[in-house]
Amino acid sequence: MADYDFDLFVIGAGSGGVRAARVAAGFGARVAIAESDRPGGTCVIRGCVPKKLLVYAARFREDLEDAAGYGWSAGATFSWPTLIANKDREIARLEGIYRTLLEAAGVTLIEGRATLADRHTVQVGERRWTAAHILIATGGRPVRPEVPGSGFAITSDEAFQLPELPARVLIVGGGFIAMEFAGIFHGLGAEVTLAYRGEQILRGFDDDVRRHLHDELVRKGVDVRLQSQLGCIERRADGRLVAALTTGGRAERIEADAVMFATGRVPTTSGLGLEAAGVALDAQGAVAVDAYSASSVPGIHAVGDVTNRLALTPVAIREGAALATTLFGGRRVAIDHKDVPHAVFSQPPVGSVGLSEAAALSALGKVDVYATTFRPLKHTLSGRDERTLVKLVVDAASQRVVGAHMVGPDAPEIIQGIAIAVKAGLTKEQFDATVALHPTAAEEFVTLRDKREVHSTR
Ligand SMILES: Cc1cc2nc3c(=O)[nH]c(=O)nc-3n(C[C@H](O)[C@H](O)[C@H](O)COP(=O)(O)OP(=O)(O)OC[C@H]3O[C@@H](n4cnc5c(N)ncnc54)[C@H](O)[C@@H]3O)c2cc1C
Repeated sequence: MADYDFDLFVIGAGSGGVRAARVAAGFGARVAIAESDRPGGTCVIRGCVPKKLLVYAARFREDLEDAAGYGWSAGATFSWPTLIANKDREIARLEGIYRTLLEAAGVTLIEGRATLADRHTVQVGERRWTAAHILIATGGRPVRPEVPGSGFAITSDEAFQLPELPARVLIVGGGFIAMEFAGIFHGLGAEVTLAYRGEQILRGFDDDVRRHLHDELVRKGVDVRLQSQLGCIERRADGRLVAALTTGGRAERIEADAVMFATGRVPTTSGLGLEAAGVALDAQGAVAVDAYSASSVPGIHAVGDVTNRLALTPVAIREGAALATTLFGGRRVAIDHKDVPHAVFSQPPVGSVGLSEAAALSALGKVDVYATTFRPLKHTLSGRDERTLVKLVVDAASQRVVGAHMVGPDAPEIIQGIAIAVKAGLTKEQFDATVALHPTAAEEFVTLRDKREVHSTR
């Protein structure tokens, strides 16, 4: 590989790219990484981390309300500029850590937008570098629906930098980012309307989870409009926005101080020179890769959101490490995308691992379902009208637990633990043999007894 400037040139210093670069350098490879924005990528700069900080901020409202039932009286005011400034300081600190980690690993950071000149050459600005292997780790970007006035709307990228908290927010979308920002804005005191064109929020999640979260959002005061199509957005003379929606066939106009699109993300592949290099893209415009993250062109690889496999940070990290090990570690490592746990940091939050009831039914034909809803102990004194859902989906033939789902406080933390059992292929009997940890919500996962047998109608 000595004829090239580098053994590996990574385009994109996000979750997947940085991990691949560091692991490859650890194996002794000469590595460069180009970044057009800030090292850390979506997760650190404008995704998971700032989002979770805003979620924490939003939760204080209910915590303060709940405290009254426990004898506390507290008066509190909220400052959006303080929150954003503190969040920005933390993100800058994390960005610094990413820079230090790359430097310590001996990876050359090249700041600027990179494009492929050919299958072994990358261009950044006026300069060109050659590499034996090139890794596309350019992530994804938010989709903006093509409706008149769409330029007046923000996406999650801008939501983190608003100068002030909008008093009324219309969120368009029904996926996890829409749910999370509905909880953030509502918790911080905004009036939130959520408009989603589908029949139920959170497509792809278990149907009980979708219904349960929908009902909880409505109960908390989020105005959820299903089967609602956005027609256009107008800006009035006073700066306020008006969105034209058609909800259930009925036309309506919603006034808002901010309209946020949470209508999905697309892989960042355009303008990179991929087509010219002969790299095959799939129907969604993602780089098509095999189980080892190799593209259709030898020497060009892709990991993370740009491959549109599972758009989650820990997945991008795994893919990056696996690729570096395959290329430079002397061992071919394929990625296993099965039973990856995922969360929605909504209010209340969701945690899920494995198959939904519908997916299990279609894959297995016959499943046993165990589910319960209950009022969390905390709310006996707080008086809050909120219920938790816990559900297990079990393969009727093998009795293996193939899906675990929860909506309620700490669901993501709890499901991370349950995911080990699901990944290990444990049976319902083994769940039942585990003694409960009392009093917790998590204990419901080992005390579920009422079985519902479900057969596929295929
Ligand atoms: C609002 C939001 C919340 C999220 N919350 C979660 C969560 O809670 N949990 C979770 O697991 N995942 C979450 N995600 C998803 C997660 O952020 C992504 O899955 C993850 O960041 C993907 O990593 P990546 O390396 O593929 O791409 P990215 O992290 O997006 O990194 C790609 C990098 O490439 C750079 N780049 C692009 N083009 C070029 C170019 N031509 N030249 C140089 N650099 C380039 C970009 O600037 C970027 O820094 C969230 C995403 C969003 C938007």
